[in-house]
Amino acid sequence: MENYSILAYLISGIFFILALRGLSSPETARRGNIYGITGMIIAVITTLLLPGIESYGLIALGILVGGAIGTSIALKIEMTALPQLIAAFHSLVGLAAVMVAGAAFHNPSAYGIGDSGSIPIASLIEMSLGSSIGAITFSGSIIAFGKLQGIMSGNPITFKFQHFLNAVLGITLIFITVLFCLEQTQNLFWGLTILAFVIGFLIIIPIGAADMPVVVSMLNSYSGWAACGIGFTLSNNLLIITGALVGSSGAILSYVMCKGMNRSFISVILGGFGGDDVSVSANKEVEQRPVKSGDSNDAAFMMQNAESVIIVPGYGMAVAQAQHALKEMCDILKKKGVNVRYAIHPVAGRMPGHMNVLLAEANVPYDEVLELDEINRDFASTDVVFVIGANDITNPAAKTDPQSPIYGMPILEVENAKSVLFSKRSLGAGYAGVENELFFRDNTMMLFGDAKEMCESIINALGK
Ligand code: NDP
Repeated sequence: MENYSILAYLISGIFFILALRGLSSPETARRGNIYGITGMIIAVITTLLLPGIESYGLIALGILVGGAIGTSIALKIEMTALPQLIAAFHSLVGLAAVMVAGAAFHNPSAYGIGDSGSIPIASLIEMSLGSSIGAITFSGSIIAFGKLQGIMSGNPITFKFQHFLNAVLGITLIFITVLFCLEQTQNLFWGLTILAFVIGFLIIIPIGAADMPVVVSMLNSYSGWAACGIGFTLSNNLLIITGALVGSSGAILSYVMCKGMNRSFISVILGGFGGDDVSVSANKEVEQRPVKSGDSNDAAFMMQNAESVIIVPGYGMAVAQAQHALKEMCDILKKKGVNVRYAIHPVAGRMPGHMNVLLAEANVPYDEVLELDEINRDFASTDVVFVIGANDITNPAAKTDPQSPIYGMPILEVENAKSVLFSKRSLGAGYAGVENELFFRDNTMMLFGDAKEMCESIINALGK
């Protein structure tokens, strides 16, 4: 059976790699998901057939309860709330790692790693790594969830000597881990676990809400390494492979997101932008200045008389769930002979690929959806840009104001087009809390209102 299980685990590992490959592009994402599901089914069945399982009843109960909770959450969750849901799920992966390490330490013979007091050093190292990374992932993810859900302030929480304290605690954790590996006592095991919980809490509180999605992706990476650690404790090859895949892909995703925001990973970890205060002060100033605003008739007139229109979707489109109405509006424009394309910024929305997923859901053809690098030069030769629920990703302060928290982030250069239409509810700032100078430009027209309602009323004005 063991040989078969190794082979089956290898096959599911290959399916997981294919899944990651598929998920790298919207065109192949569905196939990627199917590969992932297939790999998981093979993995679960193989594990259930392994000798040594004592109670199928308990496992079935766990699958039923967990599956029911998961299904009900998946059906109800709004796509804009996915980052906090992922953070909540990671906290459970972290906690599972702590529990497996704790169980292995208290009952080593059940895991085939000797007896209490004489556990081999390699297993003690795996156990302490699994438990400490798991504990950091658990408490860090809870804080990330609280910040993203708005349960606690999104502002960075900082205090004097914070980095010094973190460094001291980090060194203490290493010291206790070494002692634990030498002495194998219960107090040391739980001491290092509790200390890791505290470190997880302390390293995430100074990070602002705007950087949280990067942190969630980083915690995702940690949870993968924690699972990898458990894999060694349980001598389960698949868990080692899967943990390493999650760990490394999470790290790569964090890097890609930082690159999209032109932020160094270290500066994100040390606490950053997105504080509520900035946004409030920015808004006060904005409200007093005059802007040119129009309605759906103006927008319909301008777009149907244009040769080319570029759509720039952002977080507000997701909030309004405007993707279907937007697609319908674009289809009418295309029928009228207008060249319509979509421009996607790498960090538009609140998670990587957020806009691609929404546009794919509305059946927007992939060849009309272009990345920043592919389309940025075309704005200068475009008649109308329709910015729908986007803000930061178009803000020229990212190029011109070194004091701005988004300084250095590449932007979609919509300002170069002949006319820019902004569909949003107010002059309010985006996630980074920075005012957008473009709203006051001569070639800008604000279309105030909910993005979906605006698209629907433009559709009416265009006359189907
Ligand atoms: P922004 O957050 O900059 O702007 C979204 C705009 O949508 C708001 O200004 C809001 O204006 C508007 N809006 C909200 N609800 C509606 C509605 N119902 N109808 C119409 N408009 C609405 O979003 P962007 O997508 O431009 O930028 C993404 C931001 O998120 C960037 O700062 C990025 O760095 C950050 N981020 C993204 C990550 C990712 O992976 N995608 C990860 C980490 C951070 P109003 O209130 O006036 O309606």
